[in-house]
Amino acid sequence: MSSTILIRFGEIALKGKNRRYFENALLQNLKNAVQDMPAQIKRMHGRFTATCSENDTAAVVDRLSKVFGVTSLSQVSPAALELEAIKAKAVEVVRSLPEHMNTFKVETRRPNKNFPFTSPEVNRHVGAHLLQHCPGLKVDVHRPSFILFIEIGMQAAYLYHNSVQGPGGLPVGVTGKGMLLLSGGIDSPVAGWMAMKRGLSLEALHFHSFPFTSKRSQEKAIELCRRLSCYSGPVPLHMVNVAGIQKEIRARCPEELGIILLRRMMIRITEAVCRQRGIRAIVTGESLGQVASQTLESMEVISAVTRLLILRPLLALDKHEIVEKAEAIDTYPVSIRPFEDCCTLFVPRHPVTRPNLARVEQAEQNLEIDRLLQEARESMETQIIKY
Ligand code: ATP
Ligand code: MG
Repeated sequence: MSSTILIRFGEIALKGKNRRYFENALLQNLKNAVQDMPAQIKRMHGRFTATCSENDTAAVVDRLSKVFGVTSLSQVSPAALELEAIKAKAVEVVRSLPEHMNTFKVETRRPNKNFPFTSPEVNRHVGAHLLQHCPGLKVDVHRPSFILFIEIGMQAAYLYHNSVQGPGGLPVGVTGKGMLLLSGGIDSPVAGWMAMKRGLSLEALHFHSFPFTSKRSQEKAIELCRRLSCYSGPVPLHMVNVAGIQKEIRARCPEELGIILLRRMMIRITEAVCRQRGIRAIVTGESLGQVASQTLESMEVISAVTRLLILRPLLALDKHEIVEKAEAIDTYPVSIRPFEDCCTLFVPRHPVTRPNLARVEQAEQNLEIDRLLQEARESMETQIIKY
């Protein structure tokens, strides 16, 4: 037996002239999401459908429910475009429901205006037919135990009674490409997810301090990337070693500026990688006021080394809101695995919360910035991460 899944999308329907572009991107992303499964995705005026075997339905719905742009999905029972066929299918659907689902109403939508009955007429005919053929069933228009939805399409009618939510947003890729600064913490994977939700496709950059930090911290970044890729398709992950930079900062600069100086070096490296790869924005997991390096003054001094746009999707979220999101997108269990981050390695005892740009630049005079950047760039390793 094959099953049919109706896929709805929201916002992209509003995009006027761009609509076709957005729809094509979504169609492609849906196809990519199930490319290793025997499922077919088709376009259907304002909707998409997926068909697959009955056994694969749950897995296909799970994959498609992670595709940005999708607002909801329903497994549907198709019927021929005739009132009698729809009535018969309605009885079949209702008989398959558990016994406690015994009050209902019918809601019809009729994008196909050639169908000879209006939506209220279909509601009435099907409702009456169900009452006749399903003993114990009652109509309740206010608090029904289920709603039988009927969608009159161009090729068929579709009946269903429940939906799974999609993530909404815009198809990944339609708003451009960003570089996610991915640590092993809770915040940055969530920031990446939120940027992807607004249509950015991402590459990720992870800074490590091998051999001061173990390989485990890199494995964590890989696993986080893998979980993000469930929502976006393959993500290129770049790993850059900043151990040399950290050693130099520690040896030559005031301790309390350590984190700010390291962050400025990270941003310089990121900018170089972005320029080389045609990426126009940096995405970070910073949230205003969360830690010393996330005050306005610190963010200003850190951003001052680049003209690239820095996006901070979590800026206004509280930690508990970020944690909730991390749990929902399933990055949380990985983020809380114990590990040493390169930033926690040389934490100053009293980090500055209001760094002064002139003083920071003064401290940088002690560093051979070009050489350090060059060495860090040479350490870069890239892998493509897929689920
Ligand atoms: P996270 O939970 O994402 O680690 P955080 O609350 O620990 O965030 P910070 O450690 O101040 O905050 O880092 C701020 C942001 O800088 C991170 O969200 C991330 O985008 C970036 N960042 C920090 N450390 C690294 C790293 N080792 N590699 C790549 N990016 C990093
Ligand atoms: Mg961190």
